Amino acid sequence: MIKLFLLLSTILFSKNAISDDFPAIFGCFCEGGLLTGKIKNNQEIKINEKKLTVYENGIFVFAFGRKFDDYVTVSINGKTKKFKVKNKKYKIERINGLPNKKVQPSEKDLIQIRNDQKKIKLSKKIGEKKKLFGSKFILPVKGRLSGFFGSQRILNSKPRSPHNGIDIAQKEGAEILAPASGRVKLVENNMFFTGNTLIMDHGLGLISIFAHMKKINVKNGQYVDLGKKIGEVGMTGRATGPHLHWGVYLLEKPVDPLSLVQSDF
Ligand SMILES: [Zn+2]
Repeated sequence: MIKLFLLLSTILFSKNAISDDFPAIFGCFCEGGLLTGKIKNNQEIKINEKKLTVYENGIFVFAFGRKFDDYVTVSINGKTKKFKVKNKKYKIERINGLPNKKVQPSEKDLIQIRNDQKKIKLSKKIGEKKKLFGSKFILPVKGRLSGFFGSQRILNSKPRSPHNGIDIAQKEGAEILAPASGRVKLVENNMFFTGNTLIMDHGLGLISIFAHMKKINVKNGQYVDLGKKIGEVGMTGRATGPHLHWGVYLLEKPVDPLSLVQSDF
């Protein structure tokens, strides 16, 4: 009995001691989710044993990516807490019997595709080291969600890269608003897949990519506030109807834009 009491009090005491030193962590503990928070000057933070970059004022960010384990451990100065990570079911669509011409782009197209990919990859590198995004994200366009984060198509047994973003169907010319504050990092017209493409840097390695736009109303390097018009919905590039594709990345890791809209930071 005494032993049990001692054991219980140790557990309770250590739990309290840990939470006292633990900062508030904002965001979604889920696949596709993003976390942020603040630690003190002299502290360091590790997620699953990996040290995170800590920015000005002790701010850290972390993205789970499309797939993650059921649990994650967060350690701050050696004190560790384990959190449950919500797993997601992604839609997998298998389409077979397509003519190979439709699945395999031509040599000429491949040159453009590689060129486009290079530019997009460059834009995913860290730019602004200040947190430009605020506590809320908004949907850039109000409309019907026609595509979700993480879904994947397998064409003639060849898996395509997963859909790293959401699609919002809306009529051509509808306003697109900045989902969070940031600086324009890339304005590029007529990309092979993404058509007229805009990339915004929200700081700390977090970027938004907007694809298939009809018009882009902002210029490279321009600072844009949350909710300001950045362009119009279109169907440029590979699109079967007018819609906005909104993708978010933390460096190379894809983030589910819906999880941002549903979280407070
Ligand atoms: Zn899309």
